Amino acid sequence: MAKSLSWDYLRERMVADQLTCRGISDPLVIAALRKVPREIFVPEEIRDRAYDDAALPIACGQTISQPLIVAMMSEALGLTGRERVLEIGTGSGYQTAILAEILGTQGALWSIERHADLLRTASGKLLHLGYTSARLRIGDGSLGLPDYAPYDAVLLAAAAPRCPPALWEQLRVGGRIVIPIGQQHQQLQLLEKQKSGSPLIRSNVSCRFVPLIGEGL
Ligand code: SAH
Repeated sequence: MAKSLSWDYLRERMVADQLTCRGISDPLVIAALRKVPREIFVPEEIRDRAYDDAALPIACGQTISQPLIVAMMSEALGLTGRERVLEIGTGSGYQTAILAEILGTQGALWSIERHADLLRTASGKLLHLGYTSARLRIGDGSLGLPDYAPYDAVLLAAAAPRCPPALWEQLRVGGRIVIPIGQQHQQLQLLEKQKSGSPLIRSNVSCRFVPLIGEGL
């Protein structure tokens, strides 16, 4: 079988065996995970594990998130495709590609990464795949990106002891942040900004992410 066919097959199987059967149901999220070639974002030497039900190591001691977690975080944001979205922790660029796929040409996406090497690699892959609308920035995402605020949705791909205040400030009222809260043992939380300015916590799932490292904690 041609390599591209077998990747397509593995991707379809991932969607069925790891996502839909565990409750992922948002059609935009499913379509994005069905389309984005995860094998491109995995280091070459472990490419055969691209569709494992697991996080995998990437450069700089970081990880590409497990497909289920990528799907859960994307679904939690409840995107329609017209939102302004900020991602913290570009890493491999896989989650960035998923968000870019969901947002298409009507939304807007910014992604911040603190490791220049990772951002360079991710940027090349995203361009190669045609995801040219994602605006990638090197820097400390714990401080957000105030120039383009407010955002409708913020996705943190690194764990923090609490939601960084700058990110909360840069979220519009009614907007959502999905964030792994904690240190060794973390909970994936969805925070929604209410009119009063206080958070409504909407979900709580155990997860394991690399730490958010920054000034804005
Ligand atoms: N969703 C990504 C996960 C990458 S791991 C993927 O699937 O590839 C989390 C990333 O957050 C790492 O690349 C790490 O370098 C980055 N990170 C940690 N603290 C950061 C900060 N303050 N600002 C920007 N990026 C940060």
